[in-house]
Amino acid sequence: MLFRSRICFQLTNGTRCLSNDAIRQGLIGMVGRTPLVRINKLSDETGCEILAKAEFCNGGGSVKDRAALYLIKDAQEKRLLRPGGTVVEGTAGNTGIGLAHMCLALGYKCVIYMPENQSQEKIDMLTTLGAIVRPVPVVAWDNPENYNHQASRFAESLDNAVWTNQFDNTANRKAHMETTGPEIWEETRGKVNAVVFGTGTGGTLAGVGTFLKEKNPKVQVFLADPQGSVLYNYIKHGKLERTEGSSITEGIGQGRVTKNLEGAPIDDALAIKDTDAVEMTFRLLHEEGFFVGASTGLNVAAAAQVAKIMGPGHTIVTCLCDTGQRYYAKLFSKSVLEEMGLLDCIPIPYRTSLH
Ligand code: PMP
Repeated sequence: MLFRSRICFQLTNGTRCLSNDAIRQGLIGMVGRTPLVRINKLSDETGCEILAKAEFCNGGGSVKDRAALYLIKDAQEKRLLRPGGTVVEGTAGNTGIGLAHMCLALGYKCVIYMPENQSQEKIDMLTTLGAIVRPVPVVAWDNPENYNHQASRFAESLDNAVWTNQFDNTANRKAHMETTGPEIWEETRGKVNAVVFGTGTGGTLAGVGTFLKEKNPKVQVFLADPQGSVLYNYIKHGKLERTEGSSITEGIGQGRVTKNLEGAPIDDALAIKDTDAVEMTFRLLHEEGFFVGASTGLNVAAAAQVAKIMGPGHTIVTCLCDTGQRYYAKLFSKSVLEEMGLLDCIPIPYRTSLH
């Protein structure tokens, strides 16, 4: 029996509850209960059990589907969204894709605001998924024209619409407290020593960390931070100072402490270099068969570092956030990697995957 309680959603033709049956209830039934997989070669190499939730198996293809569903459920419960309503979010990535999928399945309209420097691929994908995409000028969070604030204002101006606010609406963290965390606890039968995740909104790390610490305070919670993010220095020294460089990873790294991350029980932080994240992305592909994005490479590279810190015999859990297909043009392009100084970190035999 899974821990997960019954979770109910309003569909256009009435309320539907997710169950734990073998038959999943449509696309929304395909969110959560992802496989927990052993990363074989790395586990053998480190002497630890390195396990990962295969989040690309969610219905919309990423870890963000869990948050997307809970953000919509939260709006339904607060009666901010009635049948036929509009979901509005500021996002350039997986949350938008997740929300667009869920909106189709649940009968809502979806409007996505994003910075106008995002790839045409992302715009095309969201449009294919039925979302209205609004690219806006690239400006920082403290500028009222930032894509998140524009999303908020647009939702306010419409009747029966909600700005889901993935960064500061803690329904995001709740998704992982109620699903990802309990799944990890149950699937490892409580034999988990550490978890480690890169952080975008902080929902995954805070939700899983909070649940597991409640079950066993000895579970170690590590935050893995990419280049150019402030969270490593925040955890280590209490200062919101960026580490050097910028990162090829997408969806992770932060400039502030979001409401979803606030108060998360974090034991330590690891700064992961792009060279390590990219090398691991290609090792996962060629040695383990997983075609994943760079945030997954970063997560697993961090898990290998945690294995070194803790020593053999421990069980370390992370997640495989999404698939490499979403980054084909960039992460798998020889010229892009060369330009970013990231070609040399890929073992020569694995460069056959580059175009
Ligand atoms: N990896 C990818 C590819 C993502 O899109 C995200 C979400 N932005 C994350 C990791 C991190 O998830 P969270 O927002 O829960 O911190």
